[in-house]
Amino acid sequence: MIFIFGANDKVVEKQQQYAQEHCYNCNNTSNWILEKNATYASLFFISVFPIKTRYIYYCPICRNGRQLEKEEYERMR
Ligand SMILES: [Zn+2]
Repeated sequence: MIFIFGANDKVVEKQQQYAQEHCYNCNNTSNWILEKNATYASLFFISVFPIKTRYIYYCPICRNGRQLEKEEYERMR
């Protein structure tokens, strides 16, 4: 029997913020995106469990942003 292991990225949660944020990269003021994404270990292309979770907050126009700590993310959502 052959097992196929892999890893794939998945957006777990995505939410647009009500507060506007100014982006110094593209010079636009817009509602930034708060996103949680995770890298899942997969078996036969089916995600089984998350290996790594990332919390990011970014500009929807140029996708410039920053990474957040879990606590920080929980407070913002
Ligand atoms: Zn931007």
